[in-house]
Amino acid sequence: MTQDGYSREDTAFMQAALEEARIAASLGEVPIGAVVVWDGEIVARAHNTRETDKTALGHAECLAIDAACRTLGGWRLHRATLYVTLEPCPMCAGAIVNARIARVVYGARDARAGAFGSVLQLNNYPLNHKPALTAGVCEAECRDLMTEFFASLRQKRLNGGLKRTRRDFLPK
Ligand SMILES: [Zn+2]
Repeated sequence: MTQDGYSREDTAFMQAALEEARIAASLGEVPIGAVVVWDGEIVARAHNTRETDKTALGHAECLAIDAACRTLGGWRLHRATLYVTLEPCPMCAGAIVNARIARVVYGARDARAGAFGSVLQLNNYPLNHKPALTAGVCEAECRDLMTEFFASLRQKRLNGGLKRTRRDFLPK
């Protein structure tokens, strides 16, 4: 473990989540990526697909959980760790609880929608499952990817090429 409470292994798995986030960015999606790890192996990888699939449910975490359940052949992910580049929103935090995920590791905090410490802390409610939480793994890298994405979006918009704004991607 490092002094921040996470291991080299955590950093390596977060790098895999960051690879997914970069794929999202290359597709014009907000760069958020996730991986699910079971017994030390990545069993699912996913990135945000809201624009591509035109659905509000296309969050990296939900897609990674769905893929992991299919790969493992069951909905109970009680030995899984989910790595995600941005703090999960309430929808994804709910999916994490429903899947009984043992531990969540996230990179950047989300002051607009974060449900594991920023806007609310789901673990403070008397639900039947509480995942262990580790925040801030590769935080600067995860945050910078988002910042660069929105800066380039702004630039494209200034150049008249794109109508979308940050407001279209993020909750108010
Ligand atoms: Zn979400």
